[in-house]
Amino acid sequence: MLHFQFYIYNMSYLVFARKYRPQTFDELVGQEHVAKSLKSAIKSGKLAHAYIFSGPRGVGKTSCARILAKSLNCKDAPTVSPCGKCPACTEITEGRSLDVIEIDGASNRGIDDIRNLRESVKFAPSYAKFKVYIIDEVHQITTDGFNALLKTLEEPPPHVKFIFATTSLNKVISTIRSRCQKFEFRPISTLAIMGKLEEISGKEGIKIEKNALFAMARSSEGSLRDAESVLDQLASFSKEKITLDDVISILGIVEDDLLVSLTDKIINKDISEALSMADDFLRSGKDAALLISGLIEYFRNLMVAKIVKSGLEKYMDVSGELQKELLLQAERIALADILRSINILADSQSMFRAIESQRIVLEMAIINLIGATQDKGPASTEKDKPPEITAAVSKPKSQIQPPPQKPVSLKDKPVNSPVSTPKNNAQPDESKKAEPKKIVVMENIMNIWQAVIDKISKAKMSIATYLNEGNPLKVENNVLLIGLPTEYKFHKDVLERRENSRMIEEALSRALDADLRVNFVLSDDKPKGQDVEIEPSISSAIEAFKGKIVNRFRKE
Ligand SMILES: [Zn+2]
Repeated sequence: MLHFQFYIYNMSYLVFARKYRPQTFDELVGQEHVAKSLKSAIKSGKLAHAYIFSGPRGVGKTSCARILAKSLNCKDAPTVSPCGKCPACTEITEGRSLDVIEIDGASNRGIDDIRNLRESVKFAPSYAKFKVYIIDEVHQITTDGFNALLKTLEEPPPHVKFIFATTSLNKVISTIRSRCQKFEFRPISTLAIMGKLEEISGKEGIKIEKNALFAMARSSEGSLRDAESVLDQLASFSKEKITLDDVISILGIVEDDLLVSLTDKIINKDISEALSMADDFLRSGKDAALLISGLIEYFRNLMVAKIVKSGLEKYMDVSGELQKELLLQAERIALADILRSINILADSQSMFRAIESQRIVLEMAIINLIGATQDKGPASTEKDKPPEITAAVSKPKSQIQPPPQKPVSLKDKPVNSPVSTPKNNAQPDESKKAEPKKIVVMENIMNIWQAVIDKISKAKMSIATYLNEGNPLKVENNVLLIGLPTEYKFHKDVLERRENSRMIEEALSRALDADLRVNFVLSDDKPKGQDVEIEPSISSAIEAFKGKIVNRFRKE
C-alpha cells in the first residue's frame, strides 16, 4: 500500500524485477515448498493437468509458472532444471512462445475470450511438447467464462497444461478449484527479500546502507517485486550511496524514531509535545495517513511486546534496538489501553474519508490516544468493573490506571449467592468445609486470574488478549461467568468456541485445583468516551471542531 503513489510516478519500475526474475526453481525466493513439490512431480512424471498458484502479489507466482512451462518444453524436458538456452526456454523467458500462452484474466474475462481459448486448446503445440496456458488474475474471469472453462478442464487434451495464478483464491469458483492442484505462495520474509536486494545491489554496483535495505525489504510486506521496484527507483538517483533517509523519503514511510518518541509522548500524556511532533510531520509535506498507519503497526507491536515479553523477532520485523524500546514502553502502558488505541487509530483511518482536513484527523487521533491512556478521574475509559473485584486484582495496569469510581451496574454486580459473593470471600475456608467437592469462590479466581491469562498467552496469544478484556463477574456452582464489553462481541464469539473455552477452563481448573467451567456474557455497560484535559494554549484550536468531530469519533 505504501508504494502506491510511487508506482503512479514511475512507469519503468519493473526493470530490476524483470532482469532478476528467477529462471529456475532453485532461484525462486521464499517458495521452497512449492519448488520442492513441483520438482518431485516433474521427476516422477506425475504432473497435474491444471494448477492454481495462489498468494499475494509479487511473490513469484507467474515466474514459477514460466519455470514450470520451461521444465515441460525445454529441449531436455521433462527436466527440473531447464537449460535456459534452447529456443523453447528463451522464447518462454522473453514471453514470445507460441506454445506458452500468458493471459491476463483481468482483461480477457468474458465468455468470448474463454471460447477463443477453448478453440485454441484443441490444436496441438506448434513444436513444443506442451501447450501451457498461464492465466493470471484468474479470479477476475466472469461466471460465464468460468463455466466455459470448466468444460475444457474436465476433458483436457493431453498436450495441454493450465496454470492459474490468483491473489484471491476464494473468488475462484469451487468447481474450478476442485479440478486443479493448488499451491499457496507465501509472503516472502523480510530477510529473504533483503538477501535478494543485497545480491542485486552487488551485481549492479549499487552502494547502499544495510538499514536502508532492511527498511526497503520490510516496507514491501512480503512482495519481492515491490522491493525490487523501490531499489530500482533509488538506484536511478545514481547517488554515491543510498541511505535510510533516501528510502524513507521515497517510500514516505515513518521513521521508527518518530513512532517511538510520539508514543512516548502519548504514554506520558504530553499532549502539547505530541501535537507539535504531528505538526512537524505534516509540515515536512508527509501524509497524515502514513503516520496513522505507522502508529497502528507500532501499537500492534507494542501489544505483542506486552504479551510475549521475549523473542519478539518471531512476531515482528523490527530491529533489536526497537524491540528493546517496545518492551520498555510496554511496561508503561496497560494492555487494554493498547487495544483501545488500536481501535482509535483504526477509526481515524475511516475518518480520512469523511473529513477533508488530514490535520484534524491526526490531531484528534493523538488527543484520543492520550485520552485512552488517561490515568484517573471520571474521564477514564477503563472498563467498568465491580470495585470489590478490582481491588483484589493485582494486574500491573492498576498501577498505571486505577479503575474509575463508578457505580456498578446491576448486570455487572456479582450475584449474592452463598458461594460466590465477594462478601462471602471473607470466609472461603468455611465454604470449603461445607462442601466435599472443592468449591471455587471469586477470591480464588481473582488471585489466579492474571497468572492464568499470562499462562494462556504462551499457548495462544489472541485468546489471552481477548480474555484480558473480560471481567470475572461471578462464580456459581463452579461455573464462572465472564463479562465482556458489548462492543467486543467478536471477542466473545472467539472465546466461546469450544476449543478456546476448553483451553480457558483447563487453565483455570489447573490453577485452582478444582473443576471449573466458564460462560461468557456481553455486559451492557459500555466504556464511556474520554474527555481529555487540554492545555489552554491548544484548547482554542480544538474548540473549533470539538462539537461535531469529537462525537463522531466516540462511536464506541
Ligand atoms: Zn531449454
